[in-house]
Amino acid sequence: MDGCIFCKIASGELPAAKVYEDERVLAFEDLNPQMPVHTLVIPKKHYSTIADGIPDDEMGHLFNTAVRVAEAKGLVGPGFRLTVNTGADAQQTVHHIHVHVCGGAPMNSGSPKQSAPQ
Ligand code: 5GP
Ligand code: ZN
Repeated sequence: MDGCIFCKIASGELPAAKVYEDERVLAFEDLNPQMPVHTLVIPKKHYSTIADGIPDDEMGHLFNTAVRVAEAKGLVGPGFRLTVNTGADAQQTVHHIHVHVCGGAPMNSGSPKQSAPQ
């Protein structure tokens, strides 16, 4: 979608530190990490939010990729958090679906915007 920074990262128009890529998804490091591990996983196709009717197979691949990123980062044993901020109350700032994969330190409980360390 025109003007969408994550579409531009998906197409290679903007740079990113890529962690994993296939024909449907891209994983890359967050520009402003809130945790020792803070990676974003996006569908290459533009959807503004997770509530935009993403097909089941794409949703499954998106989340399985997020789990595989967590595995590759060594987070499965200690634990990790997948977060999808959706809409204004959740303070979604980039309107292209992205799954935050966060871990590497103990996190606060509750429903934070981000997975801030304790
Ligand atoms: P949101 O608040 O929408 O859930 O999260 C957006 C995330 O995207 C933030 O964690 C922010 O640091 C990250 N971000 C915003 N712009 C860029 C960018 O151009 N490149 C990368 N790698 N991350 C970005
Ligand atoms: Zn987009």
